[in-house]
Amino acid sequence: MDKVDCVVIGAGVVGLAVARRLAQAGREVIVLEQAEAIGTVTSSRNSEVIHAGIYYRAGSWMARMCVGGKQALYRYCGERGIPHKNCGKLIVATNAKETEKLQSIKAHAEANGVLDMQLLSGEAARALEPALACDAALLSPSTGIIDSHAYMLSLRGEAEDAGAAFAFHTPLIRAKADAGMIEIETGGEAPMTLQCGLLVNAAGLSATTVARHIDGMPVDRIPPAYLAKGNYFSCNARAPFSRLIYPVPEPGGLGVHLTLDMAGQARFGPDVEWIETIDYEVDPSRAERFYPAIRKYWPALPDGALMPSYSGIRPKIVPPAVATQDFLMQGPRDHGVAGLVNLFGIESPGLTSSLAIADHVAELAEI
Ligand SMILES: Cc1cc2nc3c(=O)[nH]c(=O)nc-3n(C[C@H](O)[C@H](O)[C@H](O)COP(=O)(O)OP(=O)(O)OC[C@H]3O[C@@H](n4cnc5c(N)ncnc54)[C@H](O)[C@@H]3O)c2cc1C
Repeated sequence: MDKVDCVVIGAGVVGLAVARRLAQAGREVIVLEQAEAIGTVTSSRNSEVIHAGIYYRAGSWMARMCVGGKQALYRYCGERGIPHKNCGKLIVATNAKETEKLQSIKAHAEANGVLDMQLLSGEAARALEPALACDAALLSPSTGIIDSHAYMLSLRGEAEDAGAAFAFHTPLIRAKADAGMIEIETGGEAPMTLQCGLLVNAAGLSATTVARHIDGMPVDRIPPAYLAKGNYFSCNARAPFSRLIYPVPEPGGLGVHLTLDMAGQARFGPDVEWIETIDYEVDPSRAERFYPAIRKYWPALPDGALMPSYSGIRPKIVPPAVATQDFLMQGPRDHGVAGLVNLFGIESPGLTSSLAIADHVAELAEI
């Protein structure tokens, strides 16, 4: 049986960042990916926003990984010429109650280490974005956008330069942890068995399924899995904004917000739709809820401008009734299996956090 030092399951943005990190630490790494290419699942179905770290619970992994990951990501992109834009974002209040809330959002962001938030009057916000309707706003200067595919290509290239190998069309079927080693069986076009000293489960939506197929992994340490789809609508009219525009969040979600891609094209969403099975179709009728929500801050949104676009699915590990979840990153000390790291619930801000998560995986694996 072939032996390899480290195996990473999944070539999404997190698996890629982990593979690069481990390979650059001098470890022999192979990435097993069931799809035909890198980043074909959640890593290409998101908003491509570099999040500031405003809303996450203070002290949570999400808050810590996002704030640290954001700085690392800006540095990484700047040094390598990865297309990105530090465009900033406005959180807009459209009534007195929401205006009151802006102060507490700012205080919450500060508790997370996001120290650059600025409260703006409606007039000051309109000086930045003349098409905006709002009573007041909160400016987050450190929010940005990124070409996530250019970023993933760079991570893959650097992982390969440091010696990592990639096997596509190669799903992990099952594994067995035994005496400090993990034996892996793969399917696909060229099934094989492999033995490794470190297995990193970065399988995104399938991370809980992968964990359940590891003989020796205690079942009671595997969280439940739920799917929360986020639907996007594109806009066939030019949206006259150069910053991302978010309403004041409501219980259960961030509200219908506007993000921009690197070409300046606006998209709205994602909303939250709890689903039972994976399905990426966008139901056009969901636009009915988008129009009134968007017109609160952009009254000039033309009728018929919204077109169903794409969707992504959040790998939830808490049910709908629980408002927030956190990343669940487990090492041997958490589950007792030597040489196994599981990454569960890596929803937003997973892209922003990817470099910080990779560092944390190295810590969990004691590398
Ligand atoms: C709607 C939405 C919007 C988002 N917006 C943002 C944002 O703006 N900013 C941000 O920071 N984050 C955002 N995120 C979060 C971010 O997209 C994810 O956290 C990130 O892409 C997760 O990467 P991953 O590598 O863990 O998972 P994935 O990209 O899903 O990769 C997992 C990989 O594992 C592979 N795999 C699965 N099972 C197996 C197996 N058995 N064997 C081999 N391979 C397997 C899959 O094929 C896949 O390629 C958003 C997420 C969603 C859903």
